[in-house]
Amino acid sequence: MDANRDLMVDFRRTAVTIFHCAASPLSMVRSLIAAVLLATASPLASQVHPSPQVDPKVAALRDAALEGDEHAWDIVEGLTTEVGPRLAGTEAEGRAREWAVRKLKAMGFANVRVEPFDMPVWVRGHESAEILAPFPQPMVVAALGNSASTGPGGVTGEIVAFDSIDALRAAPNAMVRGKIIFVDHRMPANQDGSGYGQFGAPRRQGPTLASQKGALAIVVRSIGTDHHRNPHTGVMTFSDGAKPIPAGALSIPDAEQLVRILKRGQPVTMKLVLESRNLGTGQSGNVIAEVPGRDPSLPPILVGGHLDSWDQGTGAIDDGAGIAIAAAAAKRIMDAGRPLRTIRIVWFGAEEVGLFGGLDYRARHGKEPHHALIESDFGADKIWKVDSKLGEARKAEAEAIGKALAPLGIVTGSLAEADGSDIGPMLGDGLPGVALSQDGTRYFDIHHTPDDTLDKIDPAQLRQNVAAWTTVLAVMSGGIEEPKSRKRR
Ligand SMILES: [Zn+2]
Repeated sequence: MDANRDLMVDFRRTAVTIFHCAASPLSMVRSLIAAVLLATASPLASQVHPSPQVDPKVAALRDAALEGDEHAWDIVEGLTTEVGPRLAGTEAEGRAREWAVRKLKAMGFANVRVEPFDMPVWVRGHESAEILAPFPQPMVVAALGNSASTGPGGVTGEIVAFDSIDALRAAPNAMVRGKIIFVDHRMPANQDGSGYGQFGAPRRQGPTLASQKGALAIVVRSIGTDHHRNPHTGVMTFSDGAKPIPAGALSIPDAEQLVRILKRGQPVTMKLVLESRNLGTGQSGNVIAEVPGRDPSLPPILVGGHLDSWDQGTGAIDDGAGIAIAAAAAKRIMDAGRPLRTIRIVWFGAEEVGLFGGLDYRARHGKEPHHALIESDFGADKIWKVDSKLGEARKAEAEAIGKALAPLGIVTGSLAEADGSDIGPMLGDGLPGVALSQDGTRYFDIHHTPDDTLDKIDPAQLRQNVAAWTTVLAVMSGGIEEPKSRKRR
């Protein structure tokens, strides 16, 4: 059929319709011109021309990941089901490393290996909290990482409450000595998760301050944004020579209940049992795998997340999702062909209890050049922003990343900063990096609780994460060469 004839037919049909409804001769002429343009454009409408600034290969890889990635789900589903919780330095984390090596080899990655390191191991024991007076009732508590043990008999003491870490800091020692300290706060939910720095202070600094002032023990309102009866654990360390004391987090409903009880104005007595144990030195390790680049002399792109998790949930959003996203993106590049630069996957060990994996990698490889460091450790909700710190000379590369990500609903933030947990110290040393920020609005509802399970991951948002990561890798790869056998003649 002749395309031009079709156009004429379309034009006449459209023109007749317009003639009957046009209000004035001038607007009729305008409408006729518009109709001609529309009719002329219609046969081409099925062809969408990509922006000349985005490499069509990059766009195709991005769109295919968004449409159909199954690698990330397969990894996080497998790890959380077949290993489950994997507290740093424990036998469970060891099983996770074995699982990881098997999985990465089965996916076809090269140079799969474990770099082991030693670390102090802390484990949770039986734990409970109970108000003995004036209104006897149980409360839900979880020990914070590195908490001292109360022993099986627990400790009993009067509660002295502070509404912030600053109030505790300002309190005279006599007010705190021999008491169980309670520190309250309110952590609002926000998209970028920045409240964690500010509102995490009671957990991170509270135990040291309380110990220095002679407290018997400390309980804090969980660092979280939910109202479920799940306490949020997390690590803290006793610094400045402070003697370890028992330290726990009350679930948010329990913390609010305790505030109401305190407001009644009578002395409040709590019995706290936290049978935590220090097991001494144990072993953890980083699991590493690679997509070898065509030019091995070029610095690799490091993509990672952390393999360990807290012990109550199954570590789905923190950080099964992260390691899954990183490896899925690398797999998609590998399946497309050979990148110019090597892509190095690092599944860090022992992040939660003190960044031991990141620090071990830094000690071994931190002086070697890296093209970029990228880590996913903020759940699996939709990525909304990309930041990078690639240096002035690589501004075009950073801008190309931003342009290629824009169709995924991702805005470009800073070109002068990037962050990440395990990679944080190396970024601080000056290594270049990219940071893809997930929406953190609901992250701290679940973070470090028994509710961190697979069902909290939305497969569609997980695919958007993989699409974004695949895009960044495709731009940074230096070009992906299809294997000769697959090239069309
Ligand atoms: Zn994490």
